[in-house]
Amino acid sequence: MARLSFTLLISLFVLISFSQTKPNRDSVNDNAPYIKVTLLGTGTPLPIMERFGASILVEAGSETLLFDAGRGCLQRLRQVNVFYNKINALFLTHLHSDHIVGIPDLWLSGWLTSERATPLEVFGPAGTDAMITNLRSAFAYDIKIRIEDDNALEQGGRLLPREIKQGVVYEKNGVKVIAFLVDHYPVVPAFGYRVEYKGHSVVLSGDTRYSENLVTYAKGADLLIHEVAIAPDTLSKSDPRYHILAHHITPELAAKIFNQVRPKLAAYSHIVNIYAQKEEDILKRTQATYAGQLILGKDLMSFSIGDSVSVNTWQKK
Ligand SMILES: [Zn+2]
Ligand SMILES: [Zn+2]
Repeated sequence: MARLSFTLLISLFVLISFSQTKPNRDSVNDNAPYIKVTLLGTGTPLPIMERFGASILVEAGSETLLFDAGRGCLQRLRQVNVFYNKINALFLTHLHSDHIVGIPDLWLSGWLTSERATPLEVFGPAGTDAMITNLRSAFAYDIKIRIEDDNALEQGGRLLPREIKQGVVYEKNGVKVIAFLVDHYPVVPAFGYRVEYKGHSVVLSGDTRYSENLVTYAKGADLLIHEVAIAPDTLSKSDPRYHILAHHITPELAAKIFNQVRPKLAAYSHIVNIYAQKEEDILKRTQATYAGQLILGKDLMSFSIGDSVSVNTWQKK
């Protein structure tokens, strides 16, 4: 049934391929040698409908992995028919609220509505243990009453925090997740992630300004998903929003990253837009010095990584 509805869902997608050889793989097959990446939320703390909070789903082989859980990630997961009980692990890039504020909803509403029976491992930077412990305390009443009154499965309501360092943090069923340090100072540590499966890979930047370490870890990746920030050229250092720009990467410096990494496809997510700039300018300013394939991410856009990388754009009915 789930397979059937996913097939129906896929028919809503428009397939655009970024190579001459189209991989004729437009349905999920657990053994297919590719990675599927879905941008669940491409936004920032701004509470807008067009871009939900930061969250990216990576499906590789039998593994279903979630990276960050910003506002609305559970609703976005439902839109792509992925239920909480299918998530094998959650990885956090850093503890800014726009990347974690969706955790209580993902966890508690997900638990109830998917009959999850096993704990969820949550990998993240130092501070993850305390954050999860405090969330458990905040929701202690709900957890207790759901078990007593709703017969929710106790193990499915557990979160298991795992504080990580740079290196391989997860390896199961042929899927490897490597965490690497990025530069989101003063947020330290902040991580990006590289996911590898069957010789293919996707790299997620997390929040970062220009990072040489990211270049090192992103080399050879099929798909690089990078954050970006755009602001008026006239933004001065005395402007109260200047520090936001300073925590992120400009389109010009992202172009430098893309030229060094040379992914098959680069995609922007986590679009920081200071003083309502035109989003198209992000691409124009990047393409002034970068000639490779580049796309501005949108919520629910997905990517299939095989011999080539193809983009599936969500279409509203
Ligand atoms: Zn952020
Ligand atoms: Zn951040």
